[in-house]
Amino acid sequence: MARYSGPVCRLCRREGMKLFLKGERCYTGKCAIDRRAYAPGQHGQARAKKPTDFGLQLREKQKARRLYGVLEKQFRSYFDEAARRKGVTGETLLSLLERRLDNVVFQLGFAASRAEGRQLVSHGHFTVNGRKVNIASYSVRAGEVIAVKEGSKSSPRMKQLLENLGSRAVPGWLSLDANSASGTVVALPTREDIQLPIQEHLIVEKYSR
Ligand code: SF4
Repeated sequence: MARYSGPVCRLCRREGMKLFLKGERCYTGKCAIDRRAYAPGQHGQARAKKPTDFGLQLREKQKARRLYGVLEKQFRSYFDEAARRKGVTGETLLSLLERRLDNVVFQLGFAASRAEGRQLVSHGHFTVNGRKVNIASYSVRAGEVIAVKEGSKSSPRMKQLLENLGSRAVPGWLSLDANSASGTVVALPTREDIQLPIQEHLIVEKYSR
C-alpha cells in the first residue's frame, strides 16, 4: 500500500500540534513545532483567518489520517467500513485505525513511531499468533499475540528498542510481556482507550456533506 513519503514535520506544523511522527526526535529540542510554531509555506506566518466549518472538518480528518499514516483512499475505506458497522461511526473509525498492526507494535513499544512500526512490520519482524505477518494494515483481533520474531531480536535497532521496552505507557486494551518481547490484545480498543486529540464527529460530518 502506498504511503506518504514527503517531509513529515511540516504535517505537524500544518496541524499546529505535535503528531509525533518521527519517534525519538519529537521529544528533543530539534522538533520543528518547538522551533517554528507556524504553518509551513510562504504564507505560514500570515495572520490566521477564522476557519470555516469545512476547514475545521478537513483539518480534523487530515490530522487523524496523518497520525495513523494512512492515505486518503484507504482512510475513506476505513470510514465506509465504520459506517457499515453498528455503533457510533466516528468511534468505530478510530477503533479500526487503532487496530492496525503498525499502530499496535508502536503502542507496545516495539517501534518509536507508527511509521517505524510500519517499516518493521513490512520487513517481516513480527508474528501474530506465531505466524509471520508483514502487512502494516493487518487488523488485530482480541486474544491475538503479537511478538518480535526470534531472528529479529538480534538486529541493532531492535535491540535498542527492546532495551527501552516499558518506558512508554501501554494502552489498557493491550498487555506487554517485555521478557518475551510480545504483547496480547486483551480487548478491542474503545474510544476511552484512544488518547489522541481527535474530534471524530467532525470527520463524520466531513464525509456526510
Ligand atoms: Fe512532529 Fe516529531 Fe517533527 Fe516535532 S519532530 S514536528 S513532533 S514529526
